[in-house]
Amino acid sequence: MALFDLVAADDLIARKTAGETADCKRGCSWCCHQLVVMTNRADGIRMLDAAYRDFSAEEFAQLELKLREQTEQISRMSHEQAETRRWTCPFLKDGSCSIYDVRPIACRSVSSRDARCCEAMMSAETFEELTAEQQSLATEIGERALALQIEINDQRPITGPVEMRALLVELLDE
Ligand code: SF4
Ligand code: SF4
Repeated sequence: MALFDLVAADDLIARKTAGETADCKRGCSWCCHQLVVMTNRADGIRMLDAAYRDFSAEEFAQLELKLREQTEQISRMSHEQAETRRWTCPFLKDGSCSIYDVRPIACRSVSSRDARCCEAMMSAETFEELTAEQQSLATEIGERALALQIEINDQRPITGPVEMRALLVELLDE
């Protein structure tokens, strides 16, 4: 498949999570402060196209600056170090994803039935600080997101995995 349609990805995710309740919605963004692993350049191109179309020139320049700064900082760390840091996504605007309709599969496949748990996860310094219930939900969220991503990626060309910021900087430089 040349280009996996985001609508099809959303459809698959909806079928796999049917009957479950989720707190996820546009404007909820506790999960937007971490590394984002992308596996498809088409997703990145779509994100930059949307930002180029919808942002002012000044906003786009700010986005590019943040992407380059964070990429540079992340490149100086081991993956383990970078994973434990909080990285506010450069696409967050007033606490909401500014490219929500074209956010990557990594973001689309994350869902949680308790936003308060997401807040706790993002506020905790270590996994051990979480309660047993929060640890269990955090593990469930991560495992399900990974399973969904694997299933979606089976249906489209994979070009990663690459951290989102590094991929977007690469695309900006082409
Ligand atoms: S995963 Fe958590 S923080 Fe992210 S949108 Fe869903 S409820 Fe909100
Ligand atoms: S792309 Fe959007 S949904 Fe994904 S981490 Fe960034 S702000 Fe959040």
